Amino acid sequence: MNIILLGSPGVGKGTYAERISEKLEIPHISTGDLLRDIIKKGTKEGQNIKKIIDKGDLIPDELMMGIVKKKIQEDDCKNGFLLEGVPRTLPQAESLKKMIKVDKVLNYVADEKIILGRLGGRLTCKKCGDTYHVKNKPPKKEGICDECEGELYTRKDQTEEAIKERLKVYHEKTEPLIEYYEKEGILAEIDANRNFAQIDLMIGESLDVIEGEE
Ligand code: AMP
Repeated sequence: MNIILLGSPGVGKGTYAERISEKLEIPHISTGDLLRDIIKKGTKEGQNIKKIIDKGDLIPDELMMGIVKKKIQEDDCKNGFLLEGVPRTLPQAESLKKMIKVDKVLNYVADEKIILGRLGGRLTCKKCGDTYHVKNKPPKKEGICDECEGELYTRKDQTEEAIKERLKVYHEKTEPLIEYYEKEGILAEIDANRNFAQIDLMIGESLDVIEGEE
């Protein structure tokens, strides 16, 4: 079963993806994470990718899909996988269609106000990379990581300016994918307006949608 999670930045896709992949026992592939892993290697390619991400722009389609193709050919992806963060453009969707059969697309939808609240106020630990949110998941001690006592900071791609750019890019380039997958007859819309405490309900809803199709 190959599943795609769609939705605006800030809708909580990453959290849903982790839980769904756990329950269905299929790997969760996040393109944001794949790109951040490349950046960590410190190569020239990584530096270029970081510049694009920090601005809130998208990595060129061909480069992105090359990375995705390599990943989904790995052994643990044989029985299916959950893609989060890709496709983000129509050419990426077309490219993916040539690589795999997409079984289901879950589109998470939330009010813009909720999305802005979740995107602003995100904090990351400089040392271990753990993530927090000033309102939804505050650290026990302000500015300090609960896990390793590292310093918390706002990632460059999570500043107000980058957030605005990411939302603009989402509306222009990614939103058309909703209609694309609707036409393919594999899209299900999930209400993500609720808070993270109700996340299991949402996961249940997502799984019902996936299983309902079988
Ligand atoms: P995410 O963690 O999914 O929000 O991704 C972080 C950043 O990585 C995005 O703002 C983009 O700059 C880049 N990125 C992730 N996935 C893609 C993709 N499918 N195509 C192009 N750029 C991407």
